[in-house]
Amino acid sequence: MSPPLNHINTSSKPPASAEVVVIGGGIIGVFTAYYLAKRGVSVALVEKGRIGAEQSSRNWGWCRQQNRDARELPMATKSLDLWEQFAAESGEDTGFHRCGLLYLSNDEAEISGWASWRDFAKTAGVTTHMLSSREAAERGHATGRAWKGGVFSPSDGTADPGKAAPAVAAALIKLGGSVHQNCAARGIEMEGGRVSGVITEAGVIKTKTAVLAGGAWASSFCRQLGIRFPQATVRQSILSVSPVEHRLPDAVVSAGVSVTRRSDGRYALAISGSGNVDPTAQLLRFAPQFLPMFAKRWRNIRPGGLEGIRGGHETLARWRLDAPTPMERVRILDPRPNLPMIRKIQRRAVELLPQLREAKITHTWAGFIDSTPDGVPGIGEVPGVPGFILAAGFSGHGFGIGPGAGHLIADLASGGEPLFDPAPFRPERFSASAWGKVADF
Ligand SMILES: Cc1cc2nc3c(=O)[nH]c(=O)nc-3n(C[C@H](O)[C@H](O)[C@H](O)COP(=O)(O)OP(=O)(O)OC[C@H]3O[C@@H](n4cnc5c(N)ncnc54)[C@H](O)[C@@H]3O)c2cc1C
Repeated sequence: MSPPLNHINTSSKPPASAEVVVIGGGIIGVFTAYYLAKRGVSVALVEKGRIGAEQSSRNWGWCRQQNRDARELPMATKSLDLWEQFAAESGEDTGFHRCGLLYLSNDEAEISGWASWRDFAKTAGVTTHMLSSREAAERGHATGRAWKGGVFSPSDGTADPGKAAPAVAAALIKLGGSVHQNCAARGIEMEGGRVSGVITEAGVIKTKTAVLAGGAWASSFCRQLGIRFPQATVRQSILSVSPVEHRLPDAVVSAGVSVTRRSDGRYALAISGSGNVDPTAQLLRFAPQFLPMFAKRWRNIRPGGLEGIRGGHETLARWRLDAPTPMERVRILDPRPNLPMIRKIQRRAVELLPQLREAKITHTWAGFIDSTPDGVPGIGEVPGVPGFILAAGFSGHGFGIGPGAGHLIADLASGGEPLFDPAPFRPERFSASAWGKVADF
């Protein structure tokens, strides 16, 4: 079952040309196109299925600075301002609000890790409050339990994944950008050594700049161009339950479970860091680069099943440009949730917040979280392919940093002054020698 998602009407026939073509209508693609349109650049966005229907509507909705990697922190901080600015300037509702995020723990090592992060974050001007055992019990009073400690990040917040990407796409259309659903990009045309067009199922869009914001499909698309982009996906299961009478925290996480209030009063429940790794040929191909990450997370990650192969997003096949591609066969990547995991999440949520006992399950779903080997996205023009900008591998953090990332990508695509230093995100960092034409293996 897919989670709720607002729908917008668009035409599936793209224009003959655009200054920039954005491939993929998740939160990254829509914000990129929005910031391009805002500065007067003609932009066409093509989405193989529905705007926001993959990761961008399947996530928890957390927009956080808390516990961010140093490379992403400036982008996370700026994104929070941009979420607010977007609502004010567009009049569209993404459900964003700075409700603060509450972390509760009984693990001293975890609490001291948060304290170290707080000290580092202070140097970046980010305020986060460590909670003593008494303060954690007070803030987390709905749990009715004692806690060793916690942390509260007051300036962080949540947006509504069912609303956000469609809201940004609607604003983009108002600015004159064109958006095309059910329109897959099959490949890239090159002329004189640089991008000259994007080949879609509905014809070619002539352009000098293509942005690939294709989420979990990015690596297989890159492969068609001879570009090696190490990417792996983890399938996380999640559910939502009906509103309850008691007011619970808007966003709370413990080692056992996370609970997030949606704007319609439902609660989304999940387990942080948990998931299934579904074996695919692509997973085997990049396994050596991902082993350190999987080894670090082995407690929460379990081998999966055939969902990765069923999805087709990690295919190693080369496809033809004049015939339907795997992206047209699977318009929306909608993997099956792990049902024992769903039951476990619900049980743990009721243990954490007994008031949820009365809540009914409204939706269960799963999403493939696309990651890079170092857990930070790849953003930038791919060396050797002028005009082709990669923006993928958001590693479970892309929703909250969507506005900042989209702004940066729009800066790079239009030759503007970058809002942040793009160096930490350069795609070629994964392996200098790995880029360029792929050798057979
Ligand atoms: C269960 C779960 C929980 C998460 N929780 C959080 C959270 O709390 N906070 C947070 O910040 N992040 C979270 N994330 C991560 C976040 O959702 C992603 O990082 C973010 O949505 C990525 O956005 P995207 O636009 O790159 O990808 P997507 O949203 O996956 O969008 C990519 C789009 O590209 C389209 N596409 C692909 N190939 C083509 C093509 N060739 N032609 C046309 N269209 C194409 C796809 O159809 C898709 O719509 C979570 C993710 C999951 C799954």
